[in-house]
Amino acid sequence: MADLRLPTNSIVHPDKDRFLSEVNPFEAMMARFDRAAELLDLEPGIYKVLRNPEKTIIVSIPVMMDSGEVEVFTGIRCLYNTSRGPAKGGIRFAPNVSIDEVKALAAWMTWKCAVVNIPFGGAKGGVICDPLKMSMGELERVTRRYTSAIISTLGPDSDVPAPDVNTNERVMAWVMDTYSMHVGHTVNAVTTGKPVAMGGSLGRREATGRGCMLTTREALAHLGMPMKGATVVVQGFGNVGSIAAELMQAEGCKIIAISDRTGGWVHRKGIDVKHAMAYVQEHTTLEGYGVGEPIANEALLELECDVLLPAALENVITTKNAANIRAKVVCEGANGPTTAGADAILDEKGVFVIPDILANAGGVTVSYFEWVQNRGGYYWSEQVVNDRLKEIMVNAFGEVLKLSSQHKVNMRTASYMLSISRVSMVHKLRGIYA
Ligand code: GLU
Repeated sequence: MADLRLPTNSIVHPDKDRFLSEVNPFEAMMARFDRAAELLDLEPGIYKVLRNPEKTIIVSIPVMMDSGEVEVFTGIRCLYNTSRGPAKGGIRFAPNVSIDEVKALAAWMTWKCAVVNIPFGGAKGGVICDPLKMSMGELERVTRRYTSAIISTLGPDSDVPAPDVNTNERVMAWVMDTYSMHVGHTVNAVTTGKPVAMGGSLGRREATGRGCMLTTREALAHLGMPMKGATVVVQGFGNVGSIAAELMQAEGCKIIAISDRTGGWVHRKGIDVKHAMAYVQEHTTLEGYGVGEPIANEALLELECDVLLPAALENVITTKNAANIRAKVVCEGANGPTTAGADAILDEKGVFVIPDILANAGGVTVSYFEWVQNRGGYYWSEQVVNDRLKEIMVNAFGEVLKLSSQHKVNMRTASYMLSISRVSMVHKLRGIYA
């Protein structure tokens, strides 16, 4: 795959992905959308509405760097669809953020919220920057200036950000504080994924990984494969990959390989996930971990295993390597890890794919719980959060599986069919305001 990383702080045309075919995430999303729309025989008017984001804001973010120089970053926030409720979706900080990526991710949030049937629309935000090369002070200034530049869309009833790639609880605390300072009082429901001490939900940090474990457990049960002893390969050892691996291990799975941006480690006897997490806590990355043999990220994806969990970034399974995937189940912890072209190859090979909009929906589901708790001012125990999450994930998996066998389509197409039918129903009921 081409290296799309840009030099730190460089400003490029934010629409550059339009020129890259297979790995253009918006086109990948649209290919799946079109297929589901056709199968649903979607009304032409609603089809046109759902192919377009409601609003995309592009802002310049001037920031005083530690060096004393002013740098200008580009920020984007896309509200794809708000027919079912406030726009919901994370903010990512990365050098290769682009308009098409943010639009695709915002559309995916729309379908994701609808597939698990929580009352939100979809949004996504991004800032083109390299947070790994920035100080804490610089990150805070970027976050606060970006927040104030998009403040007109934000609010508990209109647009509610959350963490995404390279953002975390601390960033959400800054967004919430900046918004609260603007409106003159504390509004904790304006973001989710906050620190628990300021209104975050218990279980939110683990929720995406927990959702991956739950949907994988459902998939293996459906396929008649035991969870105990199932071999698992995990690409990405951040919040999603590491927690999913830990929870799968607790269910009896054998984690045979893990990786992060520095590379991976394969150990057929099984990796102790807690030990690897402690290593990362101390050393920041898996570099030098030394358990088992080192393996490159590309080769790791092609290892023979029961479950492959791509939990890093988009476009890691493409037409170039899909034929070499030897997993029986792929659980998409990341957003958009598989290209549309690769879908067909995996289908042909009989790989059971739990699509991103279902597999990683646990995060936004507990974001919804956080928002409900903030608005009610009444907080739930971690057990209540986990039980309600399980109920939603297991139900959604069951509904998608049912549709997939009814229509003889794969789980991805069935997920899109379910979510698009839910969003289009609301459009039909609300009508077109003139
Ligand atoms: N960034 C996460 C996702 O892609 C969470 C979004 C949210 O909780 O709003 O699903």
